Amino acid sequence: MKNVDYIVVGGGFAGLFFVHQLIKNNKSFVLVSDRISSASEVSGGVVNPIVLHKFTSFWLGDEQVQFLQQTLIEIQQYLGKNYFEAMPVHRILSDENEKQTWIIKSKSEDLSTYISNQFTQMNAINNQFGIGVVQHSGRLSVHTFFKEFYQFLQDSNSYIQESFDFNELNPSKKIYKDISYKHLVFAEGIRVKDNPYFSYLPIIPSKGHHLSVSISNPISEKVILKKKHFFFQMENGQYYVGGTFDRNSTDLQVMETSVQELKKSLEEIYPYSYLVEDVEVGLRPTLTDRRPTLGVHHEYESLFILNGMGTRGVLNGCYFANELYQFIENHQPLLPELDIKRFR
Ligand SMILES: Cc1cc2nc3c(=O)[nH]c(=O)nc-3n(C[C@H](O)[C@H](O)[C@H](O)COP(=O)(O)OP(=O)(O)OC[C@H]3O[C@@H](n4cnc5c(N)ncnc54)[C@H](O)[C@@H]3O)c2cc1C
Repeated sequence: MKNVDYIVVGGGFAGLFFVHQLIKNNKSFVLVSDRISSASEVSGGVVNPIVLHKFTSFWLGDEQVQFLQQTLIEIQQYLGKNYFEAMPVHRILSDENEKQTWIIKSKSEDLSTYISNQFTQMNAINNQFGIGVVQHSGRLSVHTFFKEFYQFLQDSNSYIQESFDFNELNPSKKIYKDISYKHLVFAEGIRVKDNPYFSYLPIIPSKGHHLSVSISNPISEKVILKKKHFFFQMENGQYYVGGTFDRNSTDLQVMETSVQELKKSLEEIYPYSYLVEDVEVGLRPTLTDRRPTLGVHHEYESLFILNGMGTRGVLNGCYFANELYQFIENHQPLLPELDIKRFR
């Protein structure tokens, strides 16, 4: 029988950032993940400190941005790389009204750190009403981050690639197959609905598509463009266009309407030819009250949940993984807005 401090089920942003806390604190663990439905691995990895359609701040935003920076430095110590690339978000403004709102917001106390009061222009992009610049933003190199983090876990024999088998779990004895554990953390994203211990959570999938495109006239500036959707260059040289939001479909099938929506959105800002190389789909795990959920199972004190990362998987996953870790190890109380108790 193998003995570990933790089993973590699910290795998207939530699971991997939780695993990071375990590595940092010298806890033994295994990660069980099949990687077949990862919203994280199809995400844009964009980290932006404001809500870009309303120009507002969000709950714990400052704390989350700072905590992510610190965490990525810690991860660099064992993976050898910082996967975050700082770059401004260039918000392409739609009309004069939006421009005026931007000016007002850039003067407000909570947003002036992030929203520049200077507008910019770009030649390769349609931007009749100018471009507002968001500072302290950037993106995680999603593909490389997952590839190299998983390789590290594989090399250290802490990763089991399989679908978690609930028939093999005995939560009273704290045993899964031939592994005895102290704590088991479920970070399964949308598939928590198939988890017999937590399936009561009111989880709502928010389906998202993104396109990978090759473009004929490359954009020289290293920026994340955003009007309706994000548009930026990825590690492999292709450009990301996404993501859509659809709450009516719960499968991972590509929808032609979403593809057309993204193409239309790209053509509105990019006046040259392009080729769609790939379409990817993911289901964002969101909860009815739009807050993440963390905490302990009402009956089994060894079972925990980390879910509901919504549209901000990078920031939420990083910050709330630590909140859960502190709750389990140091008995730090959970904020009531996050505690799974709110759903029982
Ligand atoms: C198109 C799109 C674009 C996005 N862009 C961004 C962005 O730019 N920035 C941002 O911050 N967020 C973005 N998001 C949101 C973000 O992706 C999600 O919030 C986040 O991925 C959720 O992470 P998670 O770890 O909870 O779940 P997931 O990423 O879904 O990870 C769960 C993992 O657990 C595995 N798993 C599940 N059940 C089991 C089981 N029973 N056994 C074994 N393994 C299991 C799955 O295969 C998967 O690997 C985007 C989402 C989409 C769909």
